Amino acid sequence: TATDALLRVRGLVAGYGAAPVLRSVDLTIAPGTIAAVLGANGAGKTTLLRTLTGLVRPTAGQIVLDGDDLRGVPVEQLVRRGMAHVPEGRGVVAELTVDENLRLGGLWRRDRADARRALDEVYDLFEPLARRRRHAGHQLSGGERQMLALGRALVGRPRLLLLDEPSLGLAPRVTAQIMALLRQLRDRDGLTVLLVEQNVRGALSVADQGVVMSLGRIAIATSAAGLRDDADLRHAYLGF
Ligand code: ATP
Repeated sequence: TATDALLRVRGLVAGYGAAPVLRSVDLTIAPGTIAAVLGANGAGKTTLLRTLTGLVRPTAGQIVLDGDDLRGVPVEQLVRRGMAHVPEGRGVVAELTVDENLRLGGLWRRDRADARRALDEVYDLFEPLARRRRHAGHQLSGGERQMLALGRALVGRPRLLLLDEPSLGLAPRVTAQIMALLRQLRDRDGLTVLLVEQNVRGALSVADQGVVMSLGRIAIATSAAGLRDDADLRHAYLGF
């Protein structure tokens, strides 16, 4: 039923100027699932995440998180409600240390003890970050910055994690680690993930649901396995 959805998007229209990029997006995401959001360059994947997270203002439509309409809810409130966005390009603060960057992710939390626990968990998950606690953001490699951006989101213990191209520029081994981590967090914490990826095979291997965007709409929303196994769909929308 509709109330089982953690995220429900209806008729979402948004963009940057006269012509909308999202032309009418309908999407339902069940809690504790990973959805791979796929589609050609320019289909609107990044814009969808930016609209969900309040960075782009929709001109029409509805975004409902766990039954609450998010219209008019300020960006910082979205974080408190459990939404975390890791943008493409990562958004690490270059002048701050690894530790300071991670703490930013938990500053707003009232439960200080759990914020500290979450921080320790991130150091356990990402050993390179633990070794570089006192290093500044600008001293990190691309892969380490990606871990840091993801880690900072996790310190906030999100319910819904919006990830934009986490595998971009990463070694395949690190990408595989991150995908395994997402699965682990889904299974352990019931984390829900919207995963925008160019790495279609990697994303579909970890995802429960496969969502294909085309020209500002959701063209297909089906099980990840269904999308993986349907050669016609793959050829038509994913080019392999
Ligand atoms: P990509 O994989 O290339 O990031 P995408 O599916 O994420 O593709 P978007 O980044 O959402 O697509 O871009 C959709 C359209 O919006 C593109 O035509 C793009 O040129 C346009 N666009 C994106 N950002 C802006 C911006 N800040 N101002 C104006 N137009 C933008």
